[in-house]
Amino acid sequence: MADNTYDAIVIGSGISGGWAAKELTEKGLKTIMLERGRDIKHVQDYVNANKNPGISRIAVAVRRR
Ligand SMILES: Cc1cc2nc3c(=O)[nH]c(=O)nc-3n(C[C@H](O)[C@H](O)[C@H](O)COP(=O)(O)OP(=O)(O)OC[C@H]3O[C@@H](n4cnc5c(N)ncnc54)[C@H](O)[C@@H]3O)c2cc1C
Repeated sequence: MADNTYDAIVIGSGISGGWAAKELTEKGLKTIMLERGRDIKHVQDYVNANKNPGISRIAVAVRRR
């Protein structure tokens, strides 16, 4: 029978959840992360990773008093 018990459950794999999971696992806790979003494939789904570092678009926000 599968062991489905965990010391910690992290909801969401954003930077907050990712960091929490890192800290928990480094302390030896058996941790599961649940993510509702689509499966992002390492490298192939990093669509902006290899683009030219030049600025392609500038947005300026002006606040009037
Ligand atoms: C358009 C845009 C551009 C940005 N650009 C920058 C930038 O250039 N630099 C910068 O530092 N910050 C940027 N930010 C801000 C940055 O994205 C956020 O501050 C950061 O992602 C917040 O991290 P988080 O882990 O709290 O949340 P998120 O990154 O939103 O992660 C939350 C995760 O939890 C999952 N989730 C939510 N609810 C559930 C559920 N019920 N069950 C399972 N999974 C769930 C979501 O699918 C998501 O993957 C930008 C934000 C936006 C919207």
